[in-house]
Amino acid sequence: MSEPAYVLDSTAFYAGIPYQGSGRYYTTYLVLEEVKTHNVGSSLIHSRVQVTEPSPESISRVKSTATKTGDLSALSQTDISLLALGLDMMKTEGGVNLVSDDFAVRNVAEVLSIPLAPTSLKGGEWKNITWKIYCRGCGKTYTNPKLTICPVCGTQLVRKASSG
Ligand SMILES: [Zn+2]
Repeated sequence: MSEPAYVLDSTAFYAGIPYQGSGRYYTTYLVLEEVKTHNVGSSLIHSRVQVTEPSPESISRVKSTATKTGDLSALSQTDISLLALGLDMMKTEGGVNLVSDDFAVRNVAEVLSIPLAPTSLKGGEWKNITWKIYCRGCGKTYTNPKLTICPVCGTQLVRKASSG
């Protein structure tokens, strides 16, 4: 059997998953865009992660399922693309693990029978990376990986991976 395949959401990138371990990693262009705005090294991403556009069939299947489960309003376009890619990968790879901490994403994945990787990003084969996010303008540091602009002075934030 070959290496396990993983479909990664943006939080998986912030946790450092694609930078270590030996799985085959996949994501969508929408996730990549999200990750890029947070200054995560894009050359690293391209060397480790295959970026794929999900099929329109899978996107509509995800939308109709999410409508039934009541999760559609909680899903972003990025979330929908991720789930649709998971569906595609189940066909093309014969199996995949979806990595997402988002409740609505996990809920819809379960209904679609897309296998979910364990929520704990610290466990398993990966060592967790802690991102140090800091402002060059005022020197303040942050821990919230979703922040891109310093709330204090408005400067674009810089992040550094510190493993351990
Ligand atoms: Zn600042």
